[in-house]
Amino acid sequence: MRAAAASPTQTERVKPEQANRIADLRADFPALATQVNGKPLAYLDNAASTQRPQAVMDALNRYEVEMHANVHRGVHARSDQATAAFEGARERARAWLNAASAEEIVFTRGATESINLVARCLDKRMGEGSEILLTRMEHHSNIVPWQQLCERTGARIQVAPVLDSGELDLKAFQELLHSGVQLVAVTHVSNAMGVINPVAEICRMARRAGAPVLIDGAQAAGHIPLDAQDLDCDFYALSGHKMYAPTGIGALYARRPWLEELPPFLGGGEMILEVRFEETTYNAPPHRFEAGTPNISGAIALGAAMDYLAGHGLERLAAMERELLEHATERLRGIAGLRIIGTAKPKSAVVSFVMDDIHPHDLGTILDHEGVAIRAGHHCAMPLMERFGLPGTARASFAFYNTHDEIDRLASGIETARRLFR
Ligand code: PLP
Repeated sequence: MRAAAASPTQTERVKPEQANRIADLRADFPALATQVNGKPLAYLDNAASTQRPQAVMDALNRYEVEMHANVHRGVHARSDQATAAFEGARERARAWLNAASAEEIVFTRGATESINLVARCLDKRMGEGSEILLTRMEHHSNIVPWQQLCERTGARIQVAPVLDSGELDLKAFQELLHSGVQLVAVTHVSNAMGVINPVAEICRMARRAGAPVLIDGAQAAGHIPLDAQDLDCDFYALSGHKMYAPTGIGALYARRPWLEELPPFLGGGEMILEVRFEETTYNAPPHRFEAGTPNISGAIALGAAMDYLAGHGLERLAAMERELLEHATERLRGIAGLRIIGTAKPKSAVVSFVMDDIHPHDLGTILDHEGVAIRAGHHCAMPLMERFGLPGTARASFAFYNTHDEIDRLASGIETARRLFR
C-alpha cells in the first residue's frame, strides 16, 4: 500500500510574490470569497463552468444601464451604441481565435449550439457512404448532433479509439481517415480527462485526406492560446461560460468559404435581406447564421472576458494552471487506492480519478461538506467511461485562480472519505 505523500503547504511551495499575485487575481472573482456548508468555497469544477471576474460583471452591468437597445436597427443613438459594442465583441473573438475576418465569427448559445449549427447545415453534403470521424473521448455535444445528421442523411459515424493513457490513438485515427470521410470532429481538450489532442497534427492529416475539420474547443479556449489560421481548421466551437463569461453565449469560427456555402441554420429576423411570401433572400454571413435578436449582453461580456484574460496574459495564466495540475497530480497520486484516468501528456488542468470502493458521487458529497466543489459522474462522455469500464469518475478541474491550499483540502477530503468507507 502506498503511503499518502507528505506535501509541502502552499506557503512552503509558493513564493511570497507568487502568493500575492494569486491573491490579487482571486480578488477579481467575488464568488471565490464565498462560503459553502460553512467552509470557504474551494471551487474545483472549472471544466463544468468557470467563475466570472468583476470586470465581466461590470461590462454586463454597464451595457444594461448605458447601452441596451436592439442591434443592427440603428435609427437611434442607443441602438448604434449597442451595435458597436456587439460588433466590437465579434472583433475581440476574431482576435482571440486569430480568424482572418470578423465575418468568420458567428455568435451562438455555446459550444453545443455551434456544433449543432454545423451539423444541421451540412445535410446537403452528406449521404449514404459519407463518414464522420469522431474520437472515443468526445463530449455528448460532439456526438449526438452527428448521430442526428446520420439519421437525416444516411451518413455513418466512425470512432477513433483512445489508448489506456487517455491519448488518442493517432495510428488508428490515420487508418480511419480515407476518402469517404466528409468531416472530422474532434475535441481540442477532453473534458473528462484533460488530455490535450494534437489538433494541429490532426488538421494536417485531415487536410491530406481532403476532410474538413471541426474542433470542439469548449475546454481549450480559456486556457490555450489559439490561432485558427495556423491550425488550419475549418470550424472551431467555443463556449463563453467555460472562459469566465456568462452562460448562454458562445461562438463558432468558420472559414469564410464555408459560411458562404452553407445554408442558414435557423430562420427569422436578422438573417434575411428581403422576405416575400414568394421568396426570401438571406443576409450575408455571419448574420445569416444569427436569426432573431442575439444575446447582446452575453457577447459583450464574452468580449470583456477575453480582454481580462489577454490583459493578464493567457500564457502566464496557463503556466499557473500547469503548476496547479502538477501539484494536484502529485498530491492525488499519493493517496492509496486512487487511480487517475487520463495520464497522457500534455494535459490541461483536469484530474479525473476513481477510488477503490467509493462511488464518485459519495466522494463528491463528502467533499462538498468540506466546501470543496468537484464534479462526479460520466461528464457527458459516456462512450469514454465505457472504454474504461467505469460508470463515472470524480473530476477536479482547476483555473488559474485556484490555490495549493484548495488542492490540499481536496486531498484531505479524499483521505477522510477513504477512512469513512474503510
Ligand atoms: N464540448 C466539451 C468538450 C465540453 O466540455 C462541453 C461542456 O462541458 C461542451 C462541449 C458543451 O459546451 P456548452 O455548455 O457551451 O454547450
